[in-house]
Formats: sequence, C-alpha cells, structure tokens
Amino acid sequence: MIFPGHVAAPVLASRYLDIDRRLAVLAGVMPDLIDKAAFYVLHASHWTRLPAHSPLFFVATSLAVALAGRLLRRDWRWGLTWAVGYALHLLCDLIPPDGILPWAWPWHAYGEIVSRGRPWFLGGGPVPWLSVSIEAALVAAALLVELLHRRRARLAVDS
Ligand SMILES: [Zn+2]
Repeated sequence: MIFPGHVAAPVLASRYLDIDRRLAVLAGVMPDLIDKAAFYVLHASHWTRLPAHSPLFFVATSLAVALAGRLLRRDWRWGLTWAVGYALHLLCDLIPPDGILPWAWPWHAYGEIVSRGRPWFLGGGPVPWLSVSIEAALVAAALLVELLHRRRARLAVDS
C-alpha cells in the first residue's frame, strides 16, 4: 500500500476509536517516511521495509511515544494512538503481492530481498492490482465516513 491508504486507515480508525487523528496519521505514514528515505534518498538500505517496518521498531517507537505522552501530558493515550496508527500501516502492508514484513529484523538481515530502484507508480514494476484495489476501497470508505459524519454534524447544528 502507498500513501493514500496509509492516511485513510488511521483517519477511519480515529472515527471509531478514542485516538488523536493527527498523531495516528503521523504514525501511519512514519514507517514509509523512514524506510523510503533510507532506501531512495540515503541509499542506506537494500529493502524499502527496513528497519521501520519491523516489530522491534513498532514496539520501540510506541514505547517512546507513550513515555513522551506520559511525561508531557500525564496520560498514555499518545502511545495507544501511535501504536494503532503504526499497526495499521504494518497491517496494510501485509496485502499481497508485497505482503512481506521483516518480522525477525535485526536478527535476520533479509539480504535476499532487494527492492527495485523505482516504485511501481513510477514505472518500477507491474501494478499490484489487488493492493491498489483495496487501497482505493479504503480511501473511498474513509472519504464516505468523513462526509457522512460532517453532514450529520451540520444537520444537528441546523436543527
Ligand atoms: Zn510501508
């Protein structure tokens, strides 16, 4: 999954869970911000899912954000919000055909997996239709839920 789906998933979740939308969206895009920068910009990685798509990074960043929230706001909701947004990113990335995550990193280096030089949407390979279809449905669902919620809120104010 790419950027629109990784934004849509936490936006949708924030409608139904007591989490901060902006922080959930930030967590929802963070694994790609880190790993795509490491691969495409810094050339420091051989796979666009290392290291931030690993469970170790998920747990470490969730604990760090939870601790920051506890110290700054005296509650743990930042940690929960971060964990939800980040977990949604990892869950969305499990959709085939690229549905592999570095579950055992750093104990396994995943040297057998090497990403292409360009992503599929820049001509770097075949279009992953299943993933793109699910992503389009997820974005449509998030937009629909937001529009319905705003319409309901507007009607409640008018009456
Ligand atoms: Zn990702």
